[in-house]
Amino acid sequence: MPSGKVHNLINASSYAVLVGAVSYLHYGLNFPVDLNEALRFSTAFWAGTLLLSPDLDLAEQNVSSKKAWGLLGFLWYPYGVVFSHRGLSHTWVVGPLTRLIYLALLILPIVVLMHWFMPKLIHWEQFSFTLDNWITPLAGYYLSQWLHLIADGIAPDQGFRRLKHYGKRWNGKKWSGKSNR
Ligand SMILES: [Zn+2]
Repeated sequence: MPSGKVHNLINASSYAVLVGAVSYLHYGLNFPVDLNEALRFSTAFWAGTLLLSPDLDLAEQNVSSKKAWGLLGFLWYPYGVVFSHRGLSHTWVVGPLTRLIYLALLILPIVVLMHWFMPKLIHWEQFSFTLDNWITPLAGYYLSQWLHLIADGIAPDQGFRRLKHYGKRWNGKKWSGKSNR
C-alpha cells in the first residue's frame, strides 16, 4: 500500500498528464475549454488529493492526509474510528461520498451559526445547487479518489463484492444475533 506521499505524487503526475492532454486539445485542436470549469475541476481534484484522501480512515493515527488539516486534523478522528481501514472508505462510489457527507456535517454547525448571528454575511442567492454546478467539481474530486484506489489495488467492484458477501451471510445465518460458535 503506497504512503501518503506516494499517493500525492501519483495524483500530481496524473494531473500533469491531464493538463498536458487538455492543453493540447485546446491550443492544438481548438477544442473549447472553459477556464472557469477547469479551475473548479482542479480545486476539487486537489482538495480530494490533499484533504479528503481515503486514508482519513486512519485519522485516529497520524496519517499525512490528517496532517494536511493542520490544527483541524483532530476533526477527522471520529471518521477514523468509525471507518475501518480500506473498508467502506475505500470503495469507488460510496467511499468518496462518506467523506463529503462527513465534511458537510463538520461545516453545517458553522453555517447555521453564521446564518443565525450574521444573517447578512451569507448570500444564499449566490449559491446554485443544481446538478449542473456540481458535475465538474464532483468529477475532479472522484478522479482524485479513484487514482488513490487504483494505486491501492482496489477494483471498482470491490464494494459490490463485499455487499454480496454480506448478503450471503445474511441469507445463510439470518442474522439471528446468536454467535457462530
Ligand atoms: Zn488507501
